[in-house]
Amino acid sequence: MSEKVIIIGSGPAAHTAAIYAARADLSPLLFEGFMAGGVAAGGQLTTTTEVENYPGFPEGIQGPELMMQMRAQSEHHGTRIRTETVDSVDLSSRPYTVKTGSDEYRTETLIIATGATAKRMQLPGEDTLWQRGISACAVCDGALPIFRNNPLVVVGGGDSACEEASYLAKFGSSVTMLVRRDQMRASKAMQKRVQRNEKINILWNTVPVAALGDQKLERVRIKDKVSGEEREIEASGLFYAIGHKPNTDFLAGQLEMDEAGYLITEPDSTKTGVPGVFAAGDVKDKVWRQAVTAAGMGCMAALEAERLLAAEE
Ligand code: FAD
Ligand code: NDP
Repeated sequence: MSEKVIIIGSGPAAHTAAIYAARADLSPLLFEGFMAGGVAAGGQLTTTTEVENYPGFPEGIQGPELMMQMRAQSEHHGTRIRTETVDSVDLSSRPYTVKTGSDEYRTETLIIATGATAKRMQLPGEDTLWQRGISACAVCDGALPIFRNNPLVVVGGGDSACEEASYLAKFGSSVTMLVRRDQMRASKAMQKRVQRNEKINILWNTVPVAALGDQKLERVRIKDKVSGEEREIEASGLFYAIGHKPNTDFLAGQLEMDEAGYLITEPDSTKTGVPGVFAAGDVKDKVWRQAVTAAGMGCMAALEAERLLAAEE
């Protein structure tokens, strides 16, 4: 038997697609993943605290709470949710095949909303000290005792880096931001937030080159990219906030991607090059990358799938 719609993913894009598909009586089957790409079901917002820019919550809402509400809304309208990671798909003939562990499913349409995962730097020392001071999620790890009242370092100059630095300033004795250029990519509001915070020190044109320590992180070797000078600074925590990699490895050879692995879709559409296969959210978007834009694309994908199925009836 073939499903009408399978949705892969569990962030705002996947759940919005599920809500629309379920309300259109397409009885969607959604694979939310089990720590897929290293992130809990619910996606990137499960790794953050306050979300202040998602409409409908004037006082803001905690990221994990927002995702629990979206999941509940998907289920409420009849989405069937499986806590499994999709290992591969076969898009060579329709109905398409979706494989999880030892199970296989067939579907007329497929919505891919697998988002993105935080990048790591592969510094010397990183493998040994990973989760012993090095992390890619300040919100998940920042409150741990090893970081409290100790000097901390954040790498990156985007919104995530600013958010993480602000969050860590509550716990650490100081936070040093390493920004590889002479300017940040972050929004002006986020930049102001870190610049106003007395516990945050910004080092421009600076990158980490090694993580040092025995059983846990003790120091970070940093390099000034203008002068070439290297020096060591004390640090109990080194937090990466240098962007994300789209979760598309399981689609290798099946769909067109750009050089970074982002899925390519038609302009003003979520259609991929394969009829009936749609992509929504951060997995295809390296420009906007917001919860609300991901949700909007999830809506588009479900409507496009519904229209295709209706036209084929
Ligand atoms: P994601 O949220 O990335 O979720 C996709 C999920 O699908 C994955 O995490 C995984 O659980 C699952 N998955 C992946 N592969 C598979 C597979 N093979 N099988 C099954 N499941 C799979 N945006 C805002 O608008 N406001 C904010 O305040 C905000 N704060 C942020 C704070 C942080 C720290 C970060 C990292 C991002 C923040 N963003 C914020 C951005 C926002 O989280 C993303 O734009 C949004 O979550 C993207 O949604 P998505 O549905 O595309 O996918
Ligand atoms: P971004 O891609 O926006 O920023 C990545 C940052 O890391 C850049 O400053 C980049 O430098 C730097 N960087 C990348 N690679 C390296 C490296 N190897 N060494 C040193 N520095 C490096 O990612 P974010 O995760 O910050 O943001 C992703 C999306 O999520 C954005 O759209 C953002 O707006 C959104 N977001 C929104 C929030 C909100 O609205 N409150 C909060 C957090 C994220 P360079 O600029 O030189 O490339």
